[in-house]
Amino acid sequence: MSETTVSDPTRLPSHLPPNTPHRFYRGGERILAFRGLDVPADFDGHRPEDWLASTTRLFAEGGDGVTLLADGTPLPDALGADPEHWLGPDHLATHGIEPGLLTKLLDAGERLPVHSHPDRAFAAAHLDCAHGKTEAWIVLAAEPGACVWLGFRDELPTDELASLVEAQDDRLLEALNRIEVRRGDAILVPGGQPHAIGAGVLVLELQEPTDLSVMLEHRRFGLDEAHAFLGLSVSRALESVDRGPLTGPSLAALRTRWTDVAGAGHALPARATEFFRAEVLSATSGSPATGAAAFAVVVVVSGRGTLSTTPAGHDSPRPTEVGRGDVLLVPYGAGEVRVEGELTVIRCMPPG
Ligand SMILES: [Zn+2]
Repeated sequence: MSETTVSDPTRLPSHLPPNTPHRFYRGGERILAFRGLDVPADFDGHRPEDWLASTTRLFAEGGDGVTLLADGTPLPDALGADPEHWLGPDHLATHGIEPGLLTKLLDAGERLPVHSHPDRAFAAAHLDCAHGKTEAWIVLAAEPGACVWLGFRDELPTDELASLVEAQDDRLLEALNRIEVRRGDAILVPGGQPHAIGAGVLVLELQEPTDLSVMLEHRRFGLDEAHAFLGLSVSRALESVDRGPLTGPSLAALRTRWTDVAGAGHALPARATEFFRAEVLSATSGSPATGAAAFAVVVVVSGRGTLSTTPAGHDSPRPTEVGRGDVLLVPYGAGEVRVEGELTVIRCMPPG
């Protein structure tokens, strides 16, 4: 690789500006605050998700979502023009040109509706899609007492689920495990598991790259049934829902604490690695942390310092000054990543 090539800014980590499509639910102020941005004068209060390095479009609500790089190039076009640089040979051999990952910041300004996402088997059988939507939440901030809901506490027979969905009242939410969360929590949400995020929670979210949701609660959020059930019949769509129970060790296995990682380590439970990887790199003064070359969305979750990369064929690292709230897209070709300072980042990466 020549110097000329490496001086090309696409060869280096690049800052990702906000990419916040309009959504049906409220939120977004915590994303702006986290990123150190002022609330714009025309802020409409419905920008609760920041889609980071996205090659995915919204299923409805206008079909936005794809990331544009700083020069205006849609990310899928950039990947297609130089896939080996962006994704690396191993990823290309296993997964092709798709990153296979959707990363978001999500600020729940109000409680989200109870919903679920199909798993891969259901998406392949009924939605002509190779990906389901297993997702994971890495809690970056939470108001005191804020909570999420995940999985039915007791098994729900098919007809009872159908009647709760028909009723559209609070019983659906009340049937789920309520989990109080705080900064440092990480929760894996397998495809099929019903869930909701409560008001006052800011998460870094990793997902399979689809926007397929079964909106079990939809009426009070003004969603029509075709949107709510993915264009399927209600009974077919409800077949994608895990009717539980999700309790005890099964629920505990879906939870961990990303703030417990010292140095470098996984932010998510082990089961997540089939779908995506989230790696904490935490540096303290005199103790840098390093990660292997990979296509990654790097979110700086605390502190300040430098993130350095060393592209192949170069001896000297290329440092970038970073601080809390910065989001960078790092191509595989940027090489090993090293963070130094008083700094914690989370690298969101496709499955290995
Ligand atoms: Zn979800």
